[in-house]
Amino acid sequence: MLVADYDIVFQEVPDETTLALNISDCPHHCPGCHSSYLWQPVGDELTQEWLLVQLERYPYITCVSIQGGDRDYHEVERVAQWVHEHGKKTCWYTGFKQMPHNLQLRHFDFVKVGPYIEALGGLKSKTTNQRFYRVEHPAGHTDADITMENATLIDCTELFWK
Ligand code: SF4
Repeated sequence: MLVADYDIVFQEVPDETTLALNISDCPHHCPGCHSSYLWQPVGDELTQEWLLVQLERYPYITCVSIQGGDRDYHEVERVAQWVHEHGKKTCWYTGFKQMPHNLQLRHFDFVKVGPYIEALGGLKSKTTNQRFYRVEHPAGHTDADITMENATLIDCTELFWK
């Protein structure tokens, strides 16, 4: 999985200071895509070592958001697990219409689902098809298998409309 570039952002995940990793080789090719440079496989391999360097460089971040990576969502899970192990929250921005049914949601605190449809707009548009969810982790069950079948997802998309 390749990181094309990254940034510290404040709006992609409400109330969090987020290191957003833009993953390249996006398979979706949405018409009107705002980041078509991510269609090609460009950037640095997202290794645990690379990530640790960033976490040490930006110790004040509270969350890491993986923006893409849909070609291998098990790799996205692994990265999210590393991030959790270092005490930060995790988010995944996926262009899938629905999350993979066997995604291990225990590694995620937030997920954004849905391709970009130009006529409907992105998350900031009230007509958007995209949804932003907070993943509820049941108290006392942090190691439980939380999947699409048993997860509690709180739709927080409205937070982007204020
Ligand atoms: S999922 Fe995102 S990066 Fe990929 S084509 Fe669609 S808008 Fe562009």
